[in-house]
Amino acid sequence: MRSGAHFDVAVVGAGAAGMMAAAVAGQRGLRVVLIDHATRLAEKIRISGGGRCNFTNLGASPAQFVSRNPDFCRSALRGYGPADFLDLLRTHGVAWHEKHRGQLFCDDSSESIIEVLRRECAVGQVAWRMPCAVQSVAREADGFVLQTDGGAIRAAQLVLATGGTAIPQLGATDFSLRVARRFGLKIVEPRPALVPLTFDAAQWQPYAALSGVALEVRLSHESAPADGAAGRPARTGGKRRQVGRTEFLEDLLFTHRGLSGPGILQISSFWRPGDPLHIDLAPGQNLAEALLEAKSGSRQTLLTALSALWPRRLAEAWLATEFPAGAPHSSPGAAPAVPAGRMVAGDSAAHRAARASDSARAPQSVPTSPRLADLPDRQLRALAERIQGWTVWPTGTAGYKKAEVMSGGVDTDELDQRSLQAHRCPGLHVVGEAVDVTGWLGGYNFQWAWASGVACGRSLKAGSRP
Ligand SMILES: Cc1cc2nc3c(=O)[nH]c(=O)nc-3n(C[C@H](O)[C@H](O)[C@H](O)COP(=O)(O)OP(=O)(O)OC[C@H]3O[C@@H](n4cnc5c(N)ncnc54)[C@H](O)[C@@H]3O)c2cc1C
Repeated sequence: MRSGAHFDVAVVGAGAAGMMAAAVAGQRGLRVVLIDHATRLAEKIRISGGGRCNFTNLGASPAQFVSRNPDFCRSALRGYGPADFLDLLRTHGVAWHEKHRGQLFCDDSSESIIEVLRRECAVGQVAWRMPCAVQSVAREADGFVLQTDGGAIRAAQLVLATGGTAIPQLGATDFSLRVARRFGLKIVEPRPALVPLTFDAAQWQPYAALSGVALEVRLSHESAPADGAAGRPARTGGKRRQVGRTEFLEDLLFTHRGLSGPGILQISSFWRPGDPLHIDLAPGQNLAEALLEAKSGSRQTLLTALSALWPRRLAEAWLATEFPAGAPHSSPGAAPAVPAGRMVAGDSAAHRAARASDSARAPQSVPTSPRLADLPDRQLRALAERIQGWTVWPTGTAGYKKAEVMSGGVDTDELDQRSLQAHRCPGLHVVGEAVDVTGWLGGYNFQWAWASGVACGRSLKAGSRP
C-alpha cells in the first residue's frame, strides 16, 4: 500500500491558469488538488492592471502573441475566447469596462477575479494545499508523486502552472521550467519581457533630466532572421518562427535609467541585446512639411513649433542637442550642430565612436531657439528626419524585478496544442506563462492563462481509483 493522498490531477501553481485548469477539471468530476507555496492567493492577478486587472482583450487573436510557433495558441483561444470569460464574469455578477483598444478591466478591484476563480474551484470541489512547497516530483508507473511540505501527494496527471519568473519578490519561480527540463522537455530561453529598457548610465545621464516626460510615438524594431523574434511568421529548417518588422503606436516614457511606457514595454518583447530601436517622435505627421509651412511668413521660433508637438521639456532638450550653447543657430549649407539626432549605446567600435560624439552634444542648457525663418529649408528637413527617425541602442532591460512577464518557456514543440500535454511525457501538462507563449501588453497574457487552463482542464482524464 503506497502512502500519500491520491488525486486524478495535481496542479502546481494556483494563479490564473492553474485555478482555471483545476476548476474546469474539478467540475468535470475529477479529483483535483491545487498546490501553491504562496501565503496569499494569486498575487499577480491582485496587482495587475493597477489593481483592476486587465483580464482580457476583445481583439485577442494569435497575432498578439510572441512565440517560436505563433500558431500554437490558436486552438486554445478558439476554445475559450474573451466572450467566454465575460460570460463567466456575468454569471458571478462582476462589472467591467473597456478602457483602451479592447482592454477590459474590472470596475471594482482585481479581487473580484480572484474570487470568481476561487468560487469556480469550490464548485469543482478542488482540494487546496496552500501554502505548501513542493520538494520533488517523480514519475511512477501510474502517474506522479510529489513530495511536499504536507507529505506525499500522488496524482495520475500533473499540471505545471507556476507561471514565469517576473517579479521574484512576489514568489515567482522557475519551478515549471525545472520540472519540465527534468522530464526532457526543451525550453526556449526565458527573458524578461514587457519591461523597461535601460541605457549605459553615463550616456543616459543627460536624458535622465527628462524623467517623467511622456508622449505618443511610433516604435519599430527589425527582427534579425536568425533570432526567431517576431512579426511575420516564417518557416526555416522545418521550424516556424517570426521575423520582420514590428511596430507599435503607443506612449513612450522617459525614466531616470532609460525608456519605459506602454510602447517600450510592447517592443521589449521583440528587442534583443545589440538591436537598435527606431522611434518616430512625431507619428502620423509630415513634420518637414509642417515646419516649412510654419516657417513661411511667421516669426515663430523652432522651440514654439516643437512645443506645440511635444512636452516643452523635450522640445528644449532636443533643441539643446541641435543647437548647443554658443553654436551658431544656422549657417546655410553647414551640418547642424547635432547631426544625427540619435542616442547610441553599444559595444562595437562604431557604437563607441558614436557614443563619444553623442556625449559631446548632450543637452546642456535651454537654448535660445532660432526663428524658423532663420533656418534654411534643408536644415529643417534634416531636423524633421532626425525627429521622425530617432535611433537608440538600449544596453539592457530593467530585468525580472520590473518585467510584467517572462517570455520564452516550455517549447511549444513539446506540447499538444489542444490539451497542453507533453508529447514525450504522457500525463504531464504545462499551462499559462510557463509555456513559450507571451502576449502583448493589454490583457492578452491573462487571456492566454484562461484559454490554456481551460483547454488543459477539459482534456484531463479521471485516473484509476486507488
Ligand atoms: C505587475 C504585473 C501586472 C500585470 N498586469 C497584467 C494585466 O493587467 N493583464 C494581463 O493580461 N497580464 C498582466 N500581467 C501578466 C499576468 O499576471 C501573467 O501573465 C499571468 O498571471 C500568468 O498566469 P499564470 O497562471 O501562468 O501564472 P501566475 O498567475 O503568476 O501564477 C503562478 C502561481 O504559481 C505559484 N508558484 C510559483 N512558484 C511556485 C512553486 N515553486 N511552488 C508552488 N507554487 C509556485 C505562484 O505563487 C502563483 O500563485 C501582469 C504581470 C505583472 C507582474
